[in-house]
Amino acid sequence: MLNIVLFGPPGAGKGTQSENIIAKYQLVHLSTGDILRSEIANGTELGREAKKLMDQGLLVPDEVVIGMISNKLDANKDAKGFIFDGFPRTVAQAEALDTLLASKDASISMMIALEVDNEELMKRLLLRGKDSGRPDDANPDIIRKRIEEYNNKTAPVANFYKAQEKFKSIHGIGSIEEIFGKISGTIDAR
Ligand code: AMP
Repeated sequence: MLNIVLFGPPGAGKGTQSENIIAKYQLVHLSTGDILRSEIANGTELGREAKKLMDQGLLVPDEVVIGMISNKLDANKDAKGFIFDGFPRTVAQAEALDTLLASKDASISMMIALEVDNEELMKRLLLRGKDSGRPDDANPDIIRKRIEEYNNKTAPVANFYKAQEKFKSIHGIGSIEEIFGKISGTIDAR
C-alpha cells in the first residue's frame, strides 16, 4: 500500500496536488475538511457543531476527525492506498492514525510537506475566498487564526514523521506542474 500524508499550512496547495497524486497513483482521497463540509451541507449534528469551530478558524476535536477517518478506512478496504489531506493536524491524531493503520497491517509510507511562506499563503487564501464560497477563506482575521492553529498544533506533526524518517519537504511555490513533478519524483524514489 502507498499511504501518503500531504502536509502544509492552509493554502499550500494540498487540495490541488491531491488531485494530481490520486490521478497518477489511484489512491483514495481522505480530506477531513471536505468530509466536515459535507456534514455541514447535510445539516447533521456533527456538521453543526464543527461549523461553529471552523467558522472561527479553530480545529475540531481530535476524537471527531479520528472517528471520521476510521469509518472511511473501514469503508475502503480494497484501496491501493490513501492520501490523507488535512489530517493528521495534531500529534494525537498522528498517533491515532498509526494505531488505526497498524490494526490493518498497514502504515504511513511518507509525509510530503509543501512549504510556502505566510505572505504567499495569505495572498492565495484571500484569492480563493473570492470564489470558493468558504467563509473561512474570506476573512483575513480568520485566515490568521487558521495559520496560528497550524503553527501551534499542526507544525509539530512534522517532527512526529521526521522521527520515523518519513518526512519529505517540497518547496510549494511555482507552477502546479513543476510542484507535482517534484512530488511524483519523491514518491517514485521510495
Ligand atoms: P481544510 O479544508 O483542511 O482547510 O479544513 C477546514 C477546517 O476544518 C479547519 O480549519 C478545521 O476547522 C477543520 N478541520 C479539518 N481537518 C481537521 C483536522 N484533521 N483536525 C481538526 N480540525 C480539522
